[in-house]
Amino acid sequence: MRTGKVGIVGMGWVGSSVAMSLLQAGVCKELLLHDIKQEIAEGEALDLTHGAIFLPPCQVRAASLEELTVCDVVIITAGRGGNPGETRLDLLQENVQIVKKISQSFIGYKGILVIVSNPVDVLTYFYQKYTQLPVNRVIGTGTLLDTARLRQSISQRIQVDPKNIHAYVVGEHGDSEVVLWSQALVGATPLRQWPGWTKELESEIAAEVKRAAQEIIKRKGATNHAIGLVTAHLVQALLQPTRKILCVSTVMNGFSDFKPIATSLPSVVSNNGVEEVLFVTSNDSELKFLKQSVEILVKAIDSVS
Ligand code: NAD
Repeated sequence: MRTGKVGIVGMGWVGSSVAMSLLQAGVCKELLLHDIKQEIAEGEALDLTHGAIFLPPCQVRAASLEELTVCDVVIITAGRGGNPGETRLDLLQENVQIVKKISQSFIGYKGILVIVSNPVDVLTYFYQKYTQLPVNRVIGTGTLLDTARLRQSISQRIQVDPKNIHAYVVGEHGDSEVVLWSQALVGATPLRQWPGWTKELESEIAAEVKRAAQEIIKRKGATNHAIGLVTAHLVQALLQPTRKILCVSTVMNGFSDFKPIATSLPSVVSNNGVEEVLFVTSNDSELKFLKQSVEILVKAIDSVS
C-alpha cells in the first residue's frame, strides 16, 4: 500500500502528543486525525498546521474513521485514561465497548493498527479478535514505554547513555510486568557484572518503573509526552524495512500452556508488522513471573463477556 498516510483515533492527551512526535520526527506525509468529538480533531489539526513552518512537510487534517482506513498505520488512543489510584485493568470494561465500535471500521483493513489505549494488552487482543486482522498487524505499544523508562533509570544509576543499555520489560504493561535482569547488557557487559550493581538496585528500579505512570497521573492527570515519543518511534519502524527489535504486544497463540493472549516480548518490527517474536529468557524466576503475568491477562480477557 505505502501511502505515507498515518491516522490517529482519539485526540486527547495521548493522541495530541503522538501527533506532535510524529510531525517532529518527519515520520509521515499526511496525518489524519479523528476523535468522536469532531471539533477536538479539527482544533488539533489547525493548531498543528500553524506550526508547519518549523516541521518537516506533512499535511494534517481532521478526518472520519472511514477515511483513516486507507492509512499505512492507524494509531488508536481512544478511550478513557486512568484516574489517580486506578490500575490499567480498571479501565477494561469501558474501553472494550469503544474497541467494539472502532473495530467495525477496520475489518479487512490492509494496514497496521497500533494500539495505545489501556489496558493495552487486553485491548490489543480484542482489536485483533473483532477485526480478524493477522496478528502481526495488530500491535500494542505494550512494554515499550516501560522498557524506555527502565533504560533511563539504569542509565541514571550507572551514568551510561541509555542507548547503550539493552534491557527489557516483558509481559503485561501493568502491575505484573517483568524486568529481564538476567539478560540485561551494558554494551557487551552483563549488567549484573557492572561495578557496584546490586540486587537492591534491581528491586528499587523495577518498583520505580512500575510506579512511573501513577506518579505522573497523580501530579498532572495523565501521561502523554513519553508515550507520544515511543509511539512515533514504533510507527517509524513500521514504515521502513529496517527490522528493529522492540518490545511490543501482539496476540500469541499457544504461549506456554495458556490460551491466546496479547503480551509483550522483544519482537522484530518492520513495514510487514511484527515479523518475529523473540523469546529471550531461560531464567527460572523470570519465566515464573512471566507466566504469572500471562495468567493475569488470561483472567482479564475472560472477565469480558
Ligand atoms: P483522553 O481522555 O485525554 O483522550 C481520549 C480521547 O479519545 C478523547 O478525546 C475522546 O473524545 C476520544 N474517544 C473516546 N471514544 C472514542 C471513540 N469511540 N472514537 C474516537 N475517539 C474517541 O485520554 P488520554 O490521556 O489521551 O489516554 C488515552 C488512552 O491511552 C487511555 O486508555 C490511557 O490509559 C492510554 N495510555 C496508554 C499508554 C501506554 O503506554 N500504552 C500511556 C499513556 C496512556
